[in-house]
Amino acid sequence: MNRVILELRALSKYYISEHAVVVGLNSVDLSFRVGEFVAVTGESGSGKSTLAHVLAGILPYENGELLIDGSPTSHYDGADWEAYRRDKISFISQNYGILEGLSVGENVTSALRILGFSPEEAKKQAEEILHRVDLFELRHRLAAKLSSGQKQRLSIARALAKPASVLIADEPTGNLDRENSEKVIRLLADAARDRLVILITHEFEEVAAYATRRLTLSDGKVITDAPLREPNVPEKRKTDTKRRPPKHLSFFTARLQLSMRPVWCTVMLLFLTLTAFAVFAFWGTFITHLDDTYTYYYNNTAFRNGNELRVVVMRSDKGDMTDEDAAQLAALSHVEQVERYGYVTDITLAYREDMDYEIRYTVINIAPPSSLSPIYETKKSITLLGDHAFLQTVPYPVSAEFLTAGRMPEDFFECVVSDSLYSLGDTVTVFLQDSKNWRSEEYIEAELTVVGLTETGSGLYVSDTLAAAVTTAVRDGASYLCVPNPEIPYSDSSTPFFRYPERCANKYYSFNDPSPLISFYPTADNSSSFRLTPDPVSPFTETLSTADKYIEVAPEIFETMVRSGYGDQMSLTVAAYAYAERVINAAQRAGYIAVSPYILGATRQNPELAEERMNTLTICMFAAAVILLLEILLLRVLFGAESNSFQLLSNIGLTSNPAVRSVWLQTFFFAFLGQLLAVGIVALCWAAGVDRIIYVVQYLPPRFIALLSLLHFLQAAIGAAWAAHAMRRTVFPFAAGYSDIDSADKEA
Ligand code: ADP
Ligand code: MG
Repeated sequence: MNRVILELRALSKYYISEHAVVVGLNSVDLSFRVGEFVAVTGESGSGKSTLAHVLAGILPYENGELLIDGSPTSHYDGADWEAYRRDKISFISQNYGILEGLSVGENVTSALRILGFSPEEAKKQAEEILHRVDLFELRHRLAAKLSSGQKQRLSIARALAKPASVLIADEPTGNLDRENSEKVIRLLADAARDRLVILITHEFEEVAAYATRRLTLSDGKVITDAPLREPNVPEKRKTDTKRRPPKHLSFFTARLQLSMRPVWCTVMLLFLTLTAFAVFAFWGTFITHLDDTYTYYYNNTAFRNGNELRVVVMRSDKGDMTDEDAAQLAALSHVEQVERYGYVTDITLAYREDMDYEIRYTVINIAPPSSLSPIYETKKSITLLGDHAFLQTVPYPVSAEFLTAGRMPEDFFECVVSDSLYSLGDTVTVFLQDSKNWRSEEYIEAELTVVGLTETGSGLYVSDTLAAAVTTAVRDGASYLCVPNPEIPYSDSSTPFFRYPERCANKYYSFNDPSPLISFYPTADNSSSFRLTPDPVSPFTETLSTADKYIEVAPEIFETMVRSGYGDQMSLTVAAYAYAERVINAAQRAGYIAVSPYILGATRQNPELAEERMNTLTICMFAAAVILLLEILLLRVLFGAESNSFQLLSNIGLTSNPAVRSVWLQTFFFAFLGQLLAVGIVALCWAAGVDRIIYVVQYLPPRFIALLSLLHFLQAAIGAAWAAHAMRRTVFPFAAGYSDIDSADKEA
């Protein structure tokens, strides 16, 4: 007698649903031996498929016992059943169970690979078996394109390729015509020479010529069990070559699955690209709106010029700034230029007639005490119509593209101005005012020659000498400063100070009160608060003559004054406001005191902008939540749609843990690719000048962008965890929880 490999003892199987309990098998006692070719017949609903699935370890049973090779299985856990299905069972179903997205050859080789055959061995065996089922010629054809007879033969080929001792076929001929059925049955009969073959059929006649035994089921019970002929005496099977599952079975599975479904891959990729981009866009917008500076009106008490691109820097020892400081600051990332005379940028500039200034004349009647005839004096006053333009000095360093024509200003009365307003050689009348530190009627008027043109900014760039004159006067608290007239040579070296109004070219500005200088003092806790403080008295005030309306200074003195340094502050222009904080931090790390006038001046909020900002924040949060849900849900749905593919692979012998890992791998693969594509979309937005995106990219330091990518991955991971859990529950009903990960790892 041949060896008994499967035995059922009073085995019952129930289908338990919410509403009813259906009996699938009712206390069945049976035993099966190697070499048997058992035909299982019975009416529809009699329990044939249930018997097949229980024997195959695909469905659990409730009562009784199934013995495998004489050992009971009631204590089996998920991993044990998986190992049983993988090693002992070949299962063929009515609907073929082949992987339609693969070629005929790949269907067999992939099954063998999953079972642990080496690629070469799998290929060799596959070819041999495809010859046997007459499919060798079609080995490169896509399985989906086969006829139904060919599909069933392919599924048999796969079952035969597997070195399992039990082959169970559930109505394999149900979809086939007579001729194909005949071929299939012959192949199965052949397989029974060294296996147990259990064939479920509702047409006993087609197997009558081959079956060694006939079982008839009714209502889940065996009603007849008739031997028909002697079972085969199994030939000694050649012992299995040692098989090892592929080292990276999950990788293998993921690759296999991906190769089968191009459309699915496309949807997945598009979708994860979209979510990656959306996470970046909405979270990015959210983070940038946490900075609410823009919702405040600018308060110019401290700095007249509150341009958002401006960062004001001082040395921490409050000493004068030097060229080395300028070079060091210019070298910081995102600093476009350095204004070495930092204070100059706070001086308002008017130079476009009828647009930003208005000249008024007042006649003043002066009655001198010694004379009866009054003197009439005409007084000119300048009213600035707009406060928008600020004086600029020669930027440092000068970038190659700064000038579109001409050269940089060198002398006092030279300037560079926008090429859209002036041409080289034009004369520009400028009025400089500092409404914070100067009295309202005070201004400097100067006629400047345009020596260079630029398209950078709307300001007017003057020479360092002019800038120095302005800042020196303010710094040193001088009441009047005269600008030397270069056309009148200074000749009398013996009297350094004398009154020659004409030498001053009538260019002056006045300070009736010594002006305070803006200085920064870090408070005890080193926060960025500040106060105004009067500057110490200049060493020059003692030697300057302060008569009447102006002070004359000898050119040498003037030279000395203007060479006394750049003052104690410089102004940096950052490439974008988004970089301001990083530039401030970098300057502070380099040992400077640095502030953004724009941020410092944010003291009174605009309620409308504040509300708008709150709305934006809310919308972003909402959108981020929607994306989170969408990402999780869609991953669940997309993998749900693939449970069929997992089912087929599990029938081949794929166990649950590599299957779960395959879900993770596929998710991460697409999340990663999506992330890359999203970067591409961001780059496109950048190139197309989409402000919002450009701003977010500039605003977020790289580590924040990395963090957002991580967030997208995390969301994908939640989706993958859910999808994997659901897949495990539907495809591997035996596998319970994650406790059997360890045993699966041992297998791998
Ligand atoms: P057969 O294959 O002989 O047609 P089955 O084994 O498929 O019969 O079914 C046996 C009985 O179990 C039938 O009454 C059927 O309705 C029931 N049954 C089969 N599968 C399920 C299921 N998944 N849930 C509930 N009842 C089921
Ligand atoms: Mg059935």
